[in-house]
Amino acid sequence: MTDTLSPPADPAAQSAPRVGFVSLGCPKALTDSELILTQLSAEGYQTSKTYAGADLVIVNTCGFIDEAVKESLDTIAEALADNGRVIVTGCLGAKTAEGGGNLVKSLHPSVLAVTGPHATQEVMDAVHANLPKPHDPFVDLVPQSFGVAGIKLTPRHYAYLKISEGCNHRCTFCIIPSMRGDLVSRPIGDVLKEAQALFEGGVKELLVISQDTSAYGVDVQYRTGFWNGKPTKTRTLELVRALGELAAPHGAWVRLHYVYPYPSVDDIVALMADGLVLPYLDVPFQHSHPDVLRRMRRPASGERNLERLARWRESCPQLVVRSTFIAGFPGETEEEFEHLLDFMRQARIDRAGCFAYSPVEGASANALPDPLPQVLRQQRRERFMAVAEEVSSAKLRERVGATMQVLVDSAPALGRKGALGRSYADAPEIDGVVRLLPPEKISKTLKVGQFTQARIVGTEGHDLLALPI
Ligand code: SF4
Repeated sequence: MTDTLSPPADPAAQSAPRVGFVSLGCPKALTDSELILTQLSAEGYQTSKTYAGADLVIVNTCGFIDEAVKESLDTIAEALADNGRVIVTGCLGAKTAEGGGNLVKSLHPSVLAVTGPHATQEVMDAVHANLPKPHDPFVDLVPQSFGVAGIKLTPRHYAYLKISEGCNHRCTFCIIPSMRGDLVSRPIGDVLKEAQALFEGGVKELLVISQDTSAYGVDVQYRTGFWNGKPTKTRTLELVRALGELAAPHGAWVRLHYVYPYPSVDDIVALMADGLVLPYLDVPFQHSHPDVLRRMRRPASGERNLERLARWRESCPQLVVRSTFIAGFPGETEEEFEHLLDFMRQARIDRAGCFAYSPVEGASANALPDPLPQVLRQQRRERFMAVAEEVSSAKLRERVGATMQVLVDSAPALGRKGALGRSYADAPEIDGVVRLLPPEKISKTLKVGQFTQARIVGTEGHDLLALPI
């Protein structure tokens, strides 16, 4: 179970109703969990680390790929078996069963309630109906709370900041818009207020997430909002600049995820070159061949991505690009796949992930002609990853001898036996890490959530080996 809260010692607290919480899925689902947990704690509910100790259990599900659906359904079954009182929320909750009706309800009719993603109020209504609110909220007892930013399920030194919900695109392999709806950008003042609270609460790395970060504000025609009494446009450039300015006095990092390669990103890369936010871009290219991109109906599919990447690197030489790709999309010819391999070699993507195409129930790509056999999809994925690893290892080796700033994620015995951290080139969970050797100086200690300078002395797979200095 995902649960970072410990039971408080206060006797009043011990009689408070207890909710178990399981959070599955991507960082966007995690931020939904954080909102629900924040609301629960604000109303005085406690959380339980075990199914048995909970009065009811909330399962936040993922419905993106078939494996995630299975994991979610298994978790619901487990919670029902061990506790019996279960509320389901999240992407899987929005799915329809084959014969119509709600999928979760049809498979598990005894669940108390089912909601879709991003539905804090509906979840809270279901909680109230099944487990009445305690009389005396004791908000202060909740650890990991960041004031207006609420509870975070990430380690205290980094946090995800969700700037919008939903997506206006209709990529043929994706069902997110049908589950999460069209793009809804959060007001810029609210986003910045949350970021400020997080930095003030000790967050050293803020990870900006959404389905399409470059589209922030499109739905409200880049409406002018207010931040610190000043008019500020609801637009990615203004947001990123303000986040960089907020982070600076705390010496904190700002990292951008899910940025599509629109021309407007050139201005954001300029902010990276100026050191305002990390020179790291997570750009989900998915493919390079224009025909495949068209069949995928990808945003920015007409962009000349190689030229754009070259320009970005020229203006910001330290830029690190992470991306994800799909191999074996329906109709992908050997020539189209070779185009992707050439793109990978020329684009020199620092960090690449690749999925063998897998049909997602309800996605329109399932109706495309010429699906590839599963074996071929897997083979292409492996061929892609072999090229990606060559590129990535070569890029990592170029770092040997350099001194980098590293954020420490784990440091048993104050790092005396070594520690794990990340440089600006590594996002948590998805990229490699920096393996820190024990410091040579006896007086030097390493602490979680602190930065250290480190000299890179070698590479190990996707990771760097470094000596703290
Ligand atoms: S951009 Fe495409 S893949 Fe991403 S959420 Fe929107 S529809 Fe899905």
